[in-house]
Amino acid sequence: MARDPVCNMIVEDTPYFVDVENKRYFFCSQGCLEAFQHSREKYLSNYVFDLIIVGGGPAALTAGVYASIFRLDTLLIAQSLGGQAVDSTKIKNYMGFDFITGPELKEKFQNQLLHKNYIAHQIATVNKVTRSNSYLSVYLDNGKIYRARALIIATGMSRNHLNVPGEEKFQRRGVCYSVVQDAPLFAGQDVVVAGGGNSATQAVTELSTTCRKVYVVSLTPLTADTEEILKIMQLPKVEIFEKHQIEEIGGTDRVEFVRIKSIDHQTVRQLDVSGIFVEIGFYPNSGLVAGLVELNERGEIKIGPDCSTTHPGIFAAGDVTDAFGKRIIIASGEGAKAAIAVRKYLNQLKMKEKNGASISDSPAPENREK
Ligand SMILES: Cc1cc2nc3c(=O)[nH]c(=O)nc-3n(C[C@H](O)[C@H](O)[C@H](O)COP(=O)(O)OP(=O)(O)OC[C@H]3O[C@@H](n4cnc5c(N)ncnc54)[C@H](O)[C@@H]3O)c2cc1C
Repeated sequence: MARDPVCNMIVEDTPYFVDVENKRYFFCSQGCLEAFQHSREKYLSNYVFDLIIVGGGPAALTAGVYASIFRLDTLLIAQSLGGQAVDSTKIKNYMGFDFITGPELKEKFQNQLLHKNYIAHQIATVNKVTRSNSYLSVYLDNGKIYRARALIIATGMSRNHLNVPGEEKFQRRGVCYSVVQDAPLFAGQDVVVAGGGNSATQAVTELSTTCRKVYVVSLTPLTADTEEILKIMQLPKVEIFEKHQIEEIGGTDRVEFVRIKSIDHQTVRQLDVSGIFVEIGFYPNSGLVAGLVELNERGEIKIGPDCSTTHPGIFAAGDVTDAFGKRIIIASGEGAKAAIAVRKYLNQLKMKEKNGASISDSPAPENREK
């Protein structure tokens, strides 16, 4: 296992490497190998890209493929590639596949970007975005700063935490957020699933195939689709506690119990389990542009029909936006739309710059193309 010196991605079994002064360097793709040999100036902080895409899920990766096809000079920055879809055990609603797992779909997206439609990319977290006149600056957690004339924010959503005693302490020691990764660790054991929506009921269905007992603890009556609720109610190993809150996750070295309290009667009960799967929804990762673009009451980035935000040059796509429907196919479609809109924006910008106008002359949100 090694790290690609250009993009910082962990690479395994890669055919792309080069020997320099008795040292072997490994790369994720031919594109990064060539960048290492020829075009490193792109990674200097005074370089101005046409476009920076922030994110590594379906929205960002699709935007990246489109940007590559349009030959936009693009940098994609992501904490990791794949996005939430990596956690999905069964994707049955992505066109072209009757059935595909999250990891398989991630592999296909990643291959399409890195090997067929290469763009520069960095594995890092973006902390902040600022505007200085004609370009936008993107600040990374590793201290680097990159600049571009346009941005696509496709940072998706992150899981909510319970914020109860024990949750932090027992992470990776019984407190889990991904059924795909962690369910096999609890075969034959008793677990709690916290939550009452579709993610929770899907987790219960999955866990009940291998666990001895699955307790469902939901603050409200279950809110998942009726079909999903009926399915888990019929499972003999499943016991449901609606209108209960989780008070504490406890144990010595690992999770040994979860204490719950009824909201109506204030009765407390201890469930002796070795794991808890937290499935209580998501929040949009919009903090990095919160001061620049308008957000709605849920913290989602408000976008127009062409994925433009209220800030000229900043576009957004996928689950981080207020677009209707949180699905892979919708996020991908929005990513494509955003890249098409950026190409048009950059062309208009070039025309304006030729005619001597400034960036602040970009169309106001209410005049954006429908
Ligand atoms: C368990 C589970 C199962 C699902 N199953 C399905 C299904 O079967 N079918 C379906 O259609 N949808 C499913 N979904 C929903 C689907 O995964 C999402 O709608 C989709 O992934 C959204 O894509 P996105 O690109 O907008 O964001 P995400 O997939 O959330 O990707 C966001 C990306 O941005 C990166 N990022 C975040 N913040 C930063 C930052 N500050 N700096 C740099 N990078 C950052 C993340 O690392 C990630 O790569 C499922 C979701 C989950 C959690």
